[in-house]
Amino acid sequence: MIVDAVSVIPEVFGPYVDASILGRAQKAGLLEFRAHDLREWTHDRHRTVDDAPFGGGPGMLMKPAPIFEAVRAVQELGPVPAHVVFFSPCGKPFDQAAAERLSREERLLFVCGRYEGMDERAYSLADEVLSLGDYVLTGGELAALTVTDAAVRLIPGVLGGEGSADEESFSEGLLEFEQYTRPAVFEGMAVPDVLLSGDHGRIKEWRRSSALERTYRWRPDLLETAPLSEKDRDLLADVAAGLEDENPTGPRETCS
Ligand code: SAH
Repeated sequence: MIVDAVSVIPEVFGPYVDASILGRAQKAGLLEFRAHDLREWTHDRHRTVDDAPFGGGPGMLMKPAPIFEAVRAVQELGPVPAHVVFFSPCGKPFDQAAAERLSREERLLFVCGRYEGMDERAYSLADEVLSLGDYVLTGGELAALTVTDAAVRLIPGVLGGEGSADEESFSEGLLEFEQYTRPAVFEGMAVPDVLLSGDHGRIKEWRRSSALERTYRWRPDLLETAPLSEKDRDLLADVAAGLEDENPTGPRETCS
């Protein structure tokens, strides 16, 4: 995959994308990350990319002209047309399904906002606008890195262990089950016995129940769309009953 990112602070990308798993993906030829300085497409002495908003109000907006020039010029770099993504708190929430979809693109072009955001006309260049969540960042760079990271790790061959992206949070509509490693007892806290039992059937059932419990506790909204079996619903009813005993102020909705 080729990822182009246009930003007024292109130097922030390198330290992240050149390290660890993304760095390895680049060395293996699975990823090429190209950062571009938006100011290359300005024509005044001060390399101005922003201006005051029409109608007044605080802060500065990114001017449309450098963004249009940048996107057109970077598209020309090829070798294939890029899927163009802009970032904004007003965009569609980014999620694992979007990461999976974007991981199948040959080329992505990210345009990172700054200041108070962009002149609305710039968004006409976007194939889609994504939001990381309901909060406001100072710029789109972290969004570009987040989306790159989440998408690239799904490209076959990028993660070391085959299948390590399979049973994760959101991949089956639920949060991931609790995980433990050595030692079996740490500062008085013991790993659940079943995980030490070697009984794969019981371990599988415990993990499903753990995933359901965590999802019920922290993200009950996911249960509305997660594919659940009859057995899952029984497990959930047990989880809900258990949690109500333990914490009478906890979430009370169930999926059924
Ligand atoms: N005034 C805008 C926020 C601008 S923040 C508003 O109220 O909606 C400046 C830039 O940071 C944005 O253009 C966008 O590129 C990026 N950004 C900020 N918050 C973001 C979020 N939650 N998701 C994705 N990008 C975000």
